Amino acid sequence: VSGDEAAHGPGRRRAGASRLAIGVDIGGTKIGGGVVTDAGEIVDREQVPTPGSDPAGTLDAMLRVIESLRTRTPGVAAVGVGAAGLVEWPEGRIRFAPHNAYPQGSLRRLVTERTGLPTIVDNDANVAAWAEARYGAALGSDHMVLLAVGTGVGAGLVLDGRVYRGATGLGGEFGHITVDAEGGAPCGCGNAGCLEAVASGSALGRYGRDAAAADPEGLIAKLAGEPDRVTGVVVYEAARQGDPTAVALFERVGRWLGIGMATAVTLFDPQVLVVGGGLASAFGLLLRPARAGMEEFVFGRRFRTLPPVVAARLGPDAGVVGAATLALEPQP
Ligand SMILES: [Zn+2]
Repeated sequence: VSGDEAAHGPGRRRAGASRLAIGVDIGGTKIGGGVVTDAGEIVDREQVPTPGSDPAGTLDAMLRVIESLRTRTPGVAAVGVGAAGLVEWPEGRIRFAPHNAYPQGSLRRLVTERTGLPTIVDNDANVAAWAEARYGAALGSDHMVLLAVGTGVGAGLVLDGRVYRGATGLGGEFGHITVDAEGGAPCGCGNAGCLEAVASGSALGRYGRDAAAADPEGLIAKLAGEPDRVTGVVVYEAARQGDPTAVALFERVGRWLGIGMATAVTLFDPQVLVVGGGLASAFGLLLRPARAGMEEFVFGRRFRTLPPVVAARLGPDAGVVGAATLALEPQP
């Protein structure tokens, strides 16, 4: 045995080996966790279903994930948590979460107390942006914007090499910039005309239901069975089969996304825009109209080079990788 193994026992990591953190990604249906190296590699995973509307249950489930990962892989230095919703930074108090129940007060403090590990709690799209900027599609970029386009539009900003959160952690919610104040499209946040209201999977489903009602013999209506049952996934399937109506609906969503991207470029001048979330799998259908929308509405088009728009590379792992590796950074 080496001296190091003699000192620490077999299976312990050698001095100079990578530092490890646990990343936890809290979703509406499952809580996923992973042990992640400081090179952004997931070396172990654990997952439990999200408990219903019980705040204590959410915390207990998170702690179960963390403890079973720690038992299998000792030597973890920190815990990072990514949570959907409005997350106060750095306190990690969840001000609003549409799909999860959390205990009152600072989730960061509760996890630290129960695990004895330094912990951060951040918005899920913020940690995903960090992961894509350090290990994914925006590798090495200090100025990037992530739009996570799924049921909603999550967003994360990495500016000057750091996650940008604003004064209290509530900043960077790019999915809820108003792009269509007069159009009346309802948003999950309670406002109308947000980017999310016109350029998300939910918006795509709504456009699809309208199209199916207008054309009950069309492919979208046929695939869904009834106009009311059309979802974004149905529209995607119809588009994949070459249905021109479905392709046009993707162009509509893509154009709105591009209009949002124009504002992102005008405000932040990023090196790259990354599209993640469920609709990233339809990136090929969205890219051209998105670029066209961005070119049309960006400030100073003639005087600037527009950044590339690329698909996210880490997929559903971005949350775990980003939360864990952010937790290894120096913290406030
Ligand atoms: Zn909104």
